[in-house]
Amino acid sequence: MNYPLSDRINGLPISQTLATAAKARELKSQGIDIIGLSLGEPDFNTPDFIKEAAIQAINDNYNSYTPVNGYLELREAVCRKFKRDNKLTYTPNQVVVSTGAKQSIANVAMVLLNPGDEVLLPAPYWVSYSAISILGEATYKEIPSTIESDFKITPAQLEAAITPKTKLIFFNSPNNPSGSKYTEAEYRALGKVLEKNPHVYIISDEIYEHINYEGENFSIARIEALYDRTITVNGVAKAFAMTGWRIGYIGAPEWIAKACTKMQGQITSGANCIAQRATIAALDAPVSKIQYMVDEFKTRRDMVLGLLNEIEGFKTNVPKGAFYVFPNISFYFGKTIAGRKIENATDFALLLLEEAHVATVTGEAFGAPNCIRISYAASEDKLREALARIKKVLA
Ligand code: GLU
Repeated sequence: MNYPLSDRINGLPISQTLATAAKARELKSQGIDIIGLSLGEPDFNTPDFIKEAAIQAINDNYNSYTPVNGYLELREAVCRKFKRDNKLTYTPNQVVVSTGAKQSIANVAMVLLNPGDEVLLPAPYWVSYSAISILGEATYKEIPSTIESDFKITPAQLEAAITPKTKLIFFNSPNNPSGSKYTEAEYRALGKVLEKNPHVYIISDEIYEHINYEGENFSIARIEALYDRTITVNGVAKAFAMTGWRIGYIGAPEWIAKACTKMQGQITSGANCIAQRATIAALDAPVSKIQYMVDEFKTRRDMVLGLLNEIEGFKTNVPKGAFYVFPNISFYFGKTIAGRKIENATDFALLLLEEAHVATVTGEAFGAPNCIRISYAASEDKLREALARIKKVLA
């Protein structure tokens, strides 16, 4: 049946991360023992001090509409956080709080993009950047990278990709799905190219900033010449195990923040009031309070890399942050396994789901068709079991 849906929705790809997680859930509900390594979601509980702040907010009767761009106290906390963690100066007027970093990004895309604009996506990139660009009626262009370059792009590649129509570029460091991280020197070298192209705006998605295993996390907005063209995006989902609370935020030039507020005022009226109050507690807490989760993720990363190394045909980089490994599995293309011909990463991910009962996400969704994404935001036992199953099927 062809329903009379808009071209907009018909042209929008489904979120592969969420779709694979839904498929895994469905198989589980049928009694199949699926190990879900598809979703980037910490398996920890939200820390108690954040939960207590939310309970307090309910008891204090925080139940009305909030300012569209978020409570002032929260925007002030965001500014303190930007200063403390990122050495970035923003005022509350430059901050907009939204229903998750995904909405923050969508707001920015909607207020900046026009039909015909180009968006640059250093690949691999998070699945929703391309979809949101399509929603903004822009076209997107991938800038490819490989394991050999640790999945990072070079200034020469960036220079070659920019055209007069380029409006926006997405950076995401630490990166989902590769876990790669740009150093300050690398960002400054890329920044030189961007400095010469004042028509290009930069979305810096720093949602994995605290899931960081080495060195400082450098925010590209710290490059003075780029500050006025950079939108720094962050949120509490990953670092504070608050995915379902749906709070994201931006620090941006005031005119962009104002436009995002206008957009949000017509779409959601603002983010959830209780979650906003809880976020103040999260952001004001010392980062050391969440270190136990980061330490655990690092242990799991090392374990997963070690176990993957024992399986033929998995080529990996060493992720510096986030909680994914993104192996190149093209070794298996053209081979027949368990009676299935593997032509591409999607076939491979399907093989793992249906034969090993392990859910991963195809790299095709991330602009890297030789890879699959494995999330290690799962217990060590589950990860061990998942990799043992994968090894068995591939043997
Ligand atoms: N960002 C997470 C992921 O990549 C959550 C799902 C989503 O929003 O895409 O798995």
